[in-house]
Amino acid sequence: MKLVKGDRVRVLSGKDRGKQGSVTRVLPGEGKVIVDGVNVAKKHQKPTRATMQGGIIDKDMPIPASNVAVLCPKGHPTRVGFEFASDGTKRRVCKKCGAEL
Ligand SMILES: [Zn+2]
Repeated sequence: MKLVKGDRVRVLSGKDRGKQGSVTRVLPGEGKVIVDGVNVAKKHQKPTRATMQGGIIDKDMPIPASNVAVLCPKGHPTRVGFEFASDGTKRRVCKKCGAEL
C-alpha cells in the first residue's frame, strides 16, 4: 500500500468516478482507503447517550485502493515511486515528474 493519510487522490471507478478528495484513513489489511466525501453511505443512527441525537448521517465508506490514483502536487494523477535521498531517507515521488509527494 503506497497511499498514506492526507494524500490527494482521484477516484477512477465506481459511482464516485472523477471525484477528488484526501485520504482520511488507510486500511492496509483490506487494501482499502477512506476518502473524504467519497462513497458516502447514509447511516441510520440511533440516538445515544453521547450524541443525544439520532437520524440519518453521512458516512464515508472504504473503497479499494486500486480504484484511486494519487494526485501529484502539480495536479496530475500519477503513480507513487520511491527514491532515496542523499541522507539515506526514503521519500515518495511522482513517477511522472519526480516531484516529492
Ligand atoms: Zn508529478
